[in-house]
Amino acid sequence: MSSTVEQVSNVFDTILVLDFGSQYSHLITRRLREFNVYAEMLPCTQKISELGWKPTGVILSGGPYSVYAEDAPHVDLDVFKLGVPVLGICYGMQELAWINGKQVARGEKREYGPATLNVQDASSPLFQGMDHSRVWMSHGDKLHGLPSGFKVIATSDNSPFCGIAHEEKPIYGIQFHPEVTHSTQGKTLLKNFAVNICRANQNWTMENFIDTEIKRIRELVGPTAEVIGAVSGGVDSTVAAKLMTEAIGDRFHAILVDNGVLRLNEAANVKKTLGEGLQINLTVVDAADEFLDKLKGVTDPEKKRKIIGNTFIHVFEREAAKIQPKGGDEIEFLLQGTLYPDVIESISFKGPSQTIKTHHNVGGLLEDMKLKLIEPLRELFKDEVRHLGELLGISHELVWRHPFPGPGIAIRVLGEVTREQVEIARKADFIYIEEIRNAGLYNKISQAFACLLPVKSVGVMGDQRTYEQVIALRAIETTDFMTADWFPFEHDFLKKVASRIVNEVDGVARVTYDITSKPPATVEWE
Ligand code: GLN
Repeated sequence: MSSTVEQVSNVFDTILVLDFGSQYSHLITRRLREFNVYAEMLPCTQKISELGWKPTGVILSGGPYSVYAEDAPHVDLDVFKLGVPVLGICYGMQELAWINGKQVARGEKREYGPATLNVQDASSPLFQGMDHSRVWMSHGDKLHGLPSGFKVIATSDNSPFCGIAHEEKPIYGIQFHPEVTHSTQGKTLLKNFAVNICRANQNWTMENFIDTEIKRIRELVGPTAEVIGAVSGGVDSTVAAKLMTEAIGDRFHAILVDNGVLRLNEAANVKKTLGEGLQINLTVVDAADEFLDKLKGVTDPEKKRKIIGNTFIHVFEREAAKIQPKGGDEIEFLLQGTLYPDVIESISFKGPSQTIKTHHNVGGLLEDMKLKLIEPLRELFKDEVRHLGELLGISHELVWRHPFPGPGIAIRVLGEVTREQVEIARKADFIYIEEIRNAGLYNKISQAFACLLPVKSVGVMGDQRTYEQVIALRAIETTDFMTADWFPFEHDFLKKVASRIVNEVDGVARVTYDITSKPPATVEWE
């Protein structure tokens, strides 16, 4: 669904990572970019003739299959006709061996965990600065002989073919995984490969990306067409909107739909920061009543999410129709802040029988409005987006904001969502976040929020019996949001927040702190 005119991979030297389905494949791309070499991952089934750009080097990833199995995936042999260096990692090395003599079989024992690398060929450019380093193994198959034309360049206690290299061509194979941090010098190896062997330019910086991307957007949109996009006040949509503004000015129209379940003062804040501060051509639509009316009486979390999603599309389309493009041209594009992890998720190789997943979230809008999709962040990881945001002059505070769910406070008010309930949840949340910021903890926490539980509990205030609801506080630490742990606040901090919330927010008699990790719990309560 990409609408790219000129591929980023045509502008920057690019290492192509062919994914054989390893759970670590995306980390290879991640690591290469950490030392400013651009890398892109594609499924192992990618035909080289259909690539449209020439890689500077190719990495074959690990994978769960056995190369000798009947339905095992295999690389397009045209990879070896490109004349560029190739590195096979684990399955990738076994694939090199399979192609060159088929000497791969089940090992007597599986090898999982640390091993020591014994470099046998000190002159090999792949292992410069790495002898005796700790490497991470994860395999059950192994090479039972040297593939023809190859030599051994490293061993480990369990793997006589821990590292191999072609006698003449720059083709390498390693049994371990350099992309995981357990391989202490794994990044050195990847850098040796990409920079010293492939000679890839280390020019993948966000400074360079801005120029390339602005040019690309201008080319794609052309001199007159107009673009619309929704903003939420979050990092991704703000960065995408600012980039569009830099590229095409007021021909980009941002719309913030106030759905009545945004954070306290959020619509006004977005108007100020994005509209006035960042000079983004922004329309704020107050549709709170419409959303809250539709949510009346609904308690099922999935139903709430669906109602909010559908109402959003409806309101957005209606507002978009009101926009009068200046040049008289139609609105042609819809901006979407898709990031690289979503792209990876939709293309990663899941095996011969699995179909490739597509994004459904904007499908409705694209079809109804006959729009083309524009995704300027689709090559970027989250930390790259943040860096880009800072370069574009977006405040540090906004750039490092915690994620906020699309259905907003509607899924943080458990049970029925009413204006009154939203007001309670949002005030409590505001106090909680304010205290987190005051304590200097905001950036140590990955996500924090308050939830309103529609459970009444007895309290006493000013000698009066109270009978009010409960606020649950949640704060988690995580690197990837797949697993998470709760944040260990100091007691005094919790005491202060609880006291402020009960005192300042009408309708709350009790505050609790959620000490459940993910799994078994999720980050959000609904
Ligand atoms: N499935 C292969 C094996 O067990 C490759 C494993 C891997 O790439 N991590 O050896």
